[in-house]
Amino acid sequence: NIQISPCSRNTRTLSAVRWNSTNVAPVDDEGYKGHGMLAPFTAGWQTTDSNPLVIEKSEGSYVYDVNGKKYLDALAGLWCNPLGGNEPRLIAAATKQLNTLPFYHSFWNRTTKPSLDLARELLGMFTSNEMAKVFFTNSGSDANDTQVKLVWYYNNALGRPNKKKIIARTKSYHGSTLISASLSGYDVYRNWFLLRVASPHYINILICQLHLYCTPIAPIIGDIIFQVRLKRIMGAGGVILPPKTYFEKIQAVVKKYDILFIADEVICGFGRLGTMFGCDKYDIKPDLVTIAKALSSAYMPIGAVVVSPKVADVIYSQSNKLGTFSHGFTYSGHPVACAVALETLKIYQERNILDQVNRISPTFQDGVKAFSSSPIVGEIRGTGLILGTEFTDNKSPHELFPPEWKIGAYFGAQCEKHGMLVRVAGDSIMMSPPFIMTSNEVDELISKFGKALKDTERKVE
Ligand code: PLP
Repeated sequence: NIQISPCSRNTRTLSAVRWNSTNVAPVDDEGYKGHGMLAPFTAGWQTTDSNPLVIEKSEGSYVYDVNGKKYLDALAGLWCNPLGGNEPRLIAAATKQLNTLPFYHSFWNRTTKPSLDLARELLGMFTSNEMAKVFFTNSGSDANDTQVKLVWYYNNALGRPNKKKIIARTKSYHGSTLISASLSGYDVYRNWFLLRVASPHYINILICQLHLYCTPIAPIIGDIIFQVRLKRIMGAGGVILPPKTYFEKIQAVVKKYDILFIADEVICGFGRLGTMFGCDKYDIKPDLVTIAKALSSAYMPIGAVVVSPKVADVIYSQSNKLGTFSHGFTYSGHPVACAVALETLKIYQERNILDQVNRISPTFQDGVKAFSSSPIVGEIRGTGLILGTEFTDNKSPHELFPPEWKIGAYFGAQCEKHGMLVRVAGDSIMMSPPFIMTSNEVDELISKFGKALKDTERKVE
């Protein structure tokens, strides 16, 4: 199932169009061909729908496919599994809660103890700004939908029903429900919507004629929008780091125009940047925060919105007048998910997870960035345990490889061949390994990255 199509650019040629897992490591079990699942993020050029890479087991930083092949999980699932596979304490926490109370809801002033305990714990952990309440969801996407409803309700309650617009950034990803996809900054994710500001990326800086790009956009933001949502580092957009004064300037503008600031911490939260939250690292004082993923180390689906007193007070005081804030999910505050999340947070604290991240991240960052001189690498950027690599031709941000060459996908397939899983998005690849990685595993990651890079260089030459 490999489609061959010759390509050439300058003097280089590359003759493969379709690269994905099945080209390199076919799953032997024919039983999964033509399976019945409509996979998330299905793309026509992928063959995963007809012959998926089927993962069967996880152990620490590794996962195994149905053929027993072992992979270093350099993406920690989908940026979400910092404690890796088979953590016995999380399994025990889930089992205990399942045996006690597998489910009760949190509607109409009824709730469960794990959800109340988790809300209290989260309010204590988030310290960059004072927070008052936690609203539980099932994922990051529905948490971001919740944000929009909260903000709209808040502005209605304050008698300014026209204040409805949201700013998100190009290259951002905030989820795939209708609203959260609309907030996301790629056409492929969103359906319609909203205003978008440039992401802090060198290509945008060049387009802005080398202005300090915060300066020209700041008055525009003030004129045209009323809320702003930003995440600290753009993960799925290719790990684009904010320049030094970026958030300082953005925060000054949103304050001036009475704009609420929503921090999407779905990837950055709980230690990935070497601080408990991205807001700690960049000195951000948000009004609302979105969390998910590492909250339960992905052992159970759970997300949440953390709400400042400024917003919570208005919602409480006005709901008798305006009517109930009618929003909630059957599984909001699911007791098993909350029990697992509570245990996850306990483990982060007991094992000094931030120290662990800060111990291994310099080797991870320096080791991978040492490949920056490769002729096919445009830039490698990252901080803490998150890192993105962008492939460009001749090391120039203006000379992108022809998209049909699928250089990123080819690199991803080579990683897979060498026993490592990364995230591919066009010609960017991303890694966000588990926090529990040992020094040897970090070395293994760097070595596999180097091998896959050599393979890709050879393919392009
Ligand atoms: N926000 C960010 C920053 C994300 O990276 C993601 C998912 O990758 C989401 C929101 C959506 O989360 P979920 O997939 O849990 O709906």
